[in-house]
Amino acid sequence: MMEQTTLVHPSAFCWNPSCAAYGKVDQGNIRRFGRTQAGTQRYQCRTCNGTFVETIGTVFYGRHHTQETIIECLALLAERNSLAAIHRVKGVKEETVLAWLRLAAQHVERIEALLLANYRLSRAQLDAMWTYVGHKGEKGGTRSRMSAAPSGAA
Ligand SMILES: [Zn+2]
Repeated sequence: MMEQTTLVHPSAFCWNPSCAAYGKVDQGNIRRFGRTQAGTQRYQCRTCNGTFVETIGTVFYGRHHTQETIIECLALLAERNSLAAIHRVKGVKEETVLAWLRLAAQHVERIEALLLANYRLSRAQLDAMWTYVGHKGEKGGTRSRMSAAPSGAA
């Protein structure tokens, strides 16, 4: 069961961070590409030829809040809103948002793909968000290290 969400569907953009179409919606580059043995729909990006399954974006499965709410809070954080402001606007506790961010940091490329596809965020804004969890201490240089193919993206 997928959670109810208005986030763009995983098939709307490429999830491969080294692809030119990474996180870009409605580029016409994604096509259906059969199913896994378990019956999960698979897609292929025609720009990079990478394949992924439709469940790739389900990072926050089984939480009390919907993934949509979680992604929205992370986007607010990236837009330089304070944790106190997010609490005020969304009614989510500061420590809860931080816990989401720590979990998100274990799935950097998927979270960034979700944020890029759903919000207009710059690289600088995304980097600023990660500094909350100290995920990217040094300036630059960490992207390529994080690009080891995430499971399910290949
Ligand atoms: Zn691609």
